[in-house]
Amino acid sequence: MKQQAQFDFTKNVSLALDDRQLRRNLRKAMDTLIEKRNSVFCDPKATEALRDLGGAIKRRALSRLPQLLVQLEECLQKNGIQVHWAETTAEANQAVLDIMRCHNATRLVKGKSMVSEEMHLNSFLQRHGIESMETDLGEFIIQLDNEPPSHIIVPAIHKNKDQVARTFHDKIPGAPYTEDVEKLTAIARRTLRKKFSDAQVGLSGVNFAVAETGTLCLVENEGNGRMCTTVPPVHIAVMGLEKVVEKLEDVPPLLRLLTGSATGQLMSTYFNLISSPRKAGERDGPREVHLIILDNGRTRILADPDMRDTLLCVRCGTCLNHCPVYTRLGGHAYGFVYPGPIGKILTPQMEGLERAGVLAGASSLCNACQDVCPVKIPIPRILRRLRHDMAAGPGADNLKENLAWKGWQLMNRVPLLNALAVKAGGLLGDRLPAVGPLKAWTSVRTTPRPAGQSLHELLRQEGVQDA
Ligand code: SF4
Repeated sequence: MKQQAQFDFTKNVSLALDDRQLRRNLRKAMDTLIEKRNSVFCDPKATEALRDLGGAIKRRALSRLPQLLVQLEECLQKNGIQVHWAETTAEANQAVLDIMRCHNATRLVKGKSMVSEEMHLNSFLQRHGIESMETDLGEFIIQLDNEPPSHIIVPAIHKNKDQVARTFHDKIPGAPYTEDVEKLTAIARRTLRKKFSDAQVGLSGVNFAVAETGTLCLVENEGNGRMCTTVPPVHIAVMGLEKVVEKLEDVPPLLRLLTGSATGQLMSTYFNLISSPRKAGERDGPREVHLIILDNGRTRILADPDMRDTLLCVRCGTCLNHCPVYTRLGGHAYGFVYPGPIGKILTPQMEGLERAGVLAGASSLCNACQDVCPVKIPIPRILRRLRHDMAAGPGADNLKENLAWKGWQLMNRVPLLNALAVKAGGLLGDRLPAVGPLKAWTSVRTTPRPAGQSLHELLRQEGVQDA
């Protein structure tokens, strides 16, 4: 299922750049997140070693992915957890619906899950008469405003507290207008408490699934994940198939990298290890646990050695916080579920280059994302490959660009042409015309002013002869 029938990235960018409030909100939030991350990763040598270890763990798991998934399924089933495989998001949605119908369930509470966003699960369930309630505070806020998440970890990061106050007052019956954060949280808590106790099914994501023990690990800070996975009688977990790791001992370094990168915490407030439904004699917990494992293009990505590192991602979101493009646009401009640097490499591979390839161009290739990624995903290299595929793909119109590069090549091969071009550049200065084919660049950039005299001329003046 696609999020947008029409995707006009250029228009989205213009709208985002014109929104001064959005840019202020983002800058403030990003500065805080970056500062918090730096405070936990303050020893560069130890951080590098940890990142190397995290990347190695994930790479090892990817190299044995088919075997580990089989092992995971066997162990989960042994533990009493039912496993469902979904090749597409449509199949994953149908699996959720089938489980709900099997229990005559009409109310579901949801913890934060990017895979469920990928499935557009809420709107799917709504169309089938099922209430699906977001319980993560950020997700709860944007659900009230009928918006998709703007960030992988902090979905309502684009809003300030005044905007949240207005949303609560307008959308929650009886909620007073208040900008007091404690009071706003209390309003959300009151609203959600009843939803937890009324829901017949709880749904969560999965951060890591341990093949050797059949354990689902869930990282969270608000306790809503634990409520979703323990209060309703049925728990459904959804995950992309790349979330499997080999051993339980692989989890601590990844957890440390995830929480440190995502929220600047040494450890999240809650860390849930789910290994079975409620056992005889236990007083709480769901009576049924299901895991839906989604492919949605991931095996295709895995099969391409140049692109498979995309699947190392632990969804920490720190590449977004450090990206000069994301921090000016926010997530909605990207038009799909995954924004920022990870979205720029993942979305074109999931949705196809024709539909989303434009995102690969939204990068200055500054390397900031790769420098902070906890598992060292070579995002700029993958972006370059996607750009190459775009340029070489069917229907690519490269005539103008090819001509420009041929001209550049000629100019640098023929000394006379080179000298003339340098002279012309010096005379023109930074007055490049904002018309014609140059407009896309010159209308939004300050062009550097070339020196009035070339290096060759200056050297000649000093009496140095050309070699
Ligand atoms: S690409 Fe790296 S930095 Fe970005 S979300 Fe994934 S793990 Fe985090």
